[in-house]
Amino acid sequence: MTQITNHMPTEELQRLDAAHHMHPFTTNDDLEKKGARVITRAKGVTLTDSEGNEILDAMAGLWCVNIGYGRDELAEVSSRQMRELPYYNTFFQTTHVPAIALAERLAELTPYDLNHVFFANSGSEANDTNIRIVRTYWQEKGQPEKTVIISRKNAYHGSSVASSALGGMSGMHAQSGMIPDIHHIDQPNWWAEGGDMSPEDFGLERAQQLEKAILELGEHKVAAFIGEPVQGAGGVIIPPSTYWPEIQRICDKYGILLIADEVICGFGRTGNWFGSQTMGIKPDIMTVAKGLSSGYAPISASIVNDKVAAVLGACEFNHGYTYSGHPVACAVALENLRILDEEGIVSHAAQELAPYLKEKFESLGDHPMVGEVKVVGMMGSLALTPDKTTRAKFAADVGTVGFMVRERCFANNLIMRHVGDRMVISPPLVITKAEIDTLIVRARKALDEGYENVKAAGLF
Ligand code: PMP
Repeated sequence: MTQITNHMPTEELQRLDAAHHMHPFTTNDDLEKKGARVITRAKGVTLTDSEGNEILDAMAGLWCVNIGYGRDELAEVSSRQMRELPYYNTFFQTTHVPAIALAERLAELTPYDLNHVFFANSGSEANDTNIRIVRTYWQEKGQPEKTVIISRKNAYHGSSVASSALGGMSGMHAQSGMIPDIHHIDQPNWWAEGGDMSPEDFGLERAQQLEKAILELGEHKVAAFIGEPVQGAGGVIIPPSTYWPEIQRICDKYGILLIADEVICGFGRTGNWFGSQTMGIKPDIMTVAKGLSSGYAPISASIVNDKVAAVLGACEFNHGYTYSGHPVACAVALENLRILDEEGIVSHAAQELAPYLKEKFESLGDHPMVGEVKVVGMMGSLALTPDKTTRAKFAADVGTVGFMVRERCFANNLIMRHVGDRMVISPPLVITKAEIDTLIVRARKALDEGYENVKAAGLF
């Protein structure tokens, strides 16, 4: 058996990786030719690769390392918990202290009466859980025909068969198909789809599509609406101010359940503990994952309000995962939440860092290829365009230019992702102002170099 370590030559690690490891959301044959970047260590907001490059991670991994890399406390808690009780399940009328403590803490942290926590391991699994919760809720209330969940095109709710159907990514639907009774309305992406409308009118129009869909599908059939307070993987689409109040009004009017998918927005990302607070909405169910443990352990949850819990509690809920409420993951999450709170990381990010990030990121708006720049809390995006005034698209497949800029980010030791032709950031909440300055310098350099390549390709 080959002993594989951080000290092996990069090419050898890349060769072994390509031989046996299938990467998510990747054309593996292309990656094999190029070789994957091998990350070996991380501290704060900085990743180190096998070549010794120090890379500023402006994506907090996959939007999850809110607390930053390298916190020993989480390693210690995890090792302590593994020694004491490495595993036990929460099926069959048993429980354990880490699950009790984390559920209690989440009930305390979340707003309103979101007081009841069902654990899973990933955002996808929690959203699958939500489909079961919603349909069981209406069955138990004697309205079993209420099964339809309305979502949005370009939403991301996960990668399992059910959660990807719930999401609105057409490429995923094309590969794995749909599940019954999911309906998608248009997204509130003014830059790409707003035409001549004002953002406010457009936000209202997009929200009112929910009411139209309820009436078309039949009020007696619609069970719930799900949305990310701010679409993340869809490109950090911050909806116009008119959007969420109207969605809330419609959910209230028709008595359908509102699910806020807070997998990215939760735990400080948008300038409050939860994106629902930033957007002023009152969900019946919240999906949380990622920042719950800052990515140090796989854990997620569906958090439901008293109304939903009262109905669900009266029946046997035929659902659960071997690792629902895994004690080590719960202990790590609890410690993560303690640090985020006691060190004032969430409040410091909201009050000090977010305004600074906004000012600096918006300064990129003067770049010839940058159109809209949007920031909420500690996440942001910029739209690349060949013409700022008409909000035009490039004369190439969507994502071609975004990919070209992302390649230059990589080359300049900055992790900034592209979603189509939008560039997105979501740095750890512990980033410093000096690191934000570095982020902006590298982003501008990547944009400049990308711009040269775009011009050379005849796309500008
Ligand atoms: N919901 C949202 C809003 C997400 O952003 C993601 C992941 N990016 C998921 C669900 C799925 O989470 P996971 O990858 O942990 O299954």
